Amino acid sequence: MKKPIGFIGLGNMGKPMATHLLNAGYPLTVFDTRKEAISALVDCGAKPAISAEATASEAETVIMSLPTPETVNEVSLGANGIILGSRVKTLVDLSTIGPRNAQNLSVKLAIEGIQFVDSPVSGGVSGAENGTLAIMLSCPDQEILWLRELLGNIGTVFHVGTKPGLGQSMKLANNLLSATALAITSEAMVMGVKAGLEPNVMLEVINAGSGKNTATLDKFPKAVLTRSFDRGFTNSLMHKDVELFLEQAQSLKVPTSVASAVQKLWQTACSEIGPGADFTTIVQCVENQAGVEVKGV
Ligand code: NAD
Repeated sequence: MKKPIGFIGLGNMGKPMATHLLNAGYPLTVFDTRKEAISALVDCGAKPAISAEATASEAETVIMSLPTPETVNEVSLGANGIILGSRVKTLVDLSTIGPRNAQNLSVKLAIEGIQFVDSPVSGGVSGAENGTLAIMLSCPDQEILWLRELLGNIGTVFHVGTKPGLGQSMKLANNLLSATALAITSEAMVMGVKAGLEPNVMLEVINAGSGKNTATLDKFPKAVLTRSFDRGFTNSLMHKDVELFLEQAQSLKVPTSVASAVQKLWQTACSEIGPGADFTTIVQCVENQAGVEVKGV
């Protein structure tokens, strides 16, 4: 019999990840502020909880996948929060919250005897659905085995460090690259289309040449040329990640001229296209100014 797990935050990422744990045989107690998100997991065999505290009273290990550092803090430390749960001993955070927040949270939870495990993920909704995420686990060496067994159900576990915050630094480096690739590919593709090139031909050439990246290989062909804009990650979440990168890089006195430009473009995407729109709509900021569309045939 596998040990019970609590899971909080059943959104684009949390729902498929929680489903994998259920399918692997973990008795799962779930909580989300959206009732319909809880119902979907209950239909698959999970037990519903009425709060984060109640979830943390059902299992020694609680996992969370929540949108922002503010939400993670509230759910962990606030009224009816995880910290008040009667059984919880380990809190595994799969959210992107930045190193400073991970370190602060770890210190506050440790006072109540709860170990915080910093473990952000990458690979998008398709990675979560297919169980192929890259998991950036930062935990003491003696905890690796059981956490690897648990988290191995949602992807490949990389042990990137022993202290909270290192998983976050790893994740922010990864997401800056993903954000930059998408932003700069938008400018390159819009320039080509306005000059008279076919976008399908452009991608074919770039992907056979030296310009290929995650945007040209995946996001442009699947979500921009099709105009479906449906990768399941919002402009506001990408903006948050680039802001967290800037905070961390600047605190370490690392130059950020390219990252600052990328952050500005995402700020524009949030105000002009919408914070809740898919992050692939960033191309529309460039298209709107240039007066052309990057549309496939
Ligand atoms: P999402 O907005 O789709 O899901 C968040 C879920 O948390 C929602 O179901 C929401 O109802 C729930 N929630 C919000 N406030 C809550 C509260 N106070 N108590 C309980 N539940 C609450 O977000 P997502 O895309 O699933 O992202 C989750 C985290 O994973 C974020 O930190 C994000 O940066 C990170 N991430 C996302 C992706 C992606 O492609 N979407 C990829 C890697 C990492």
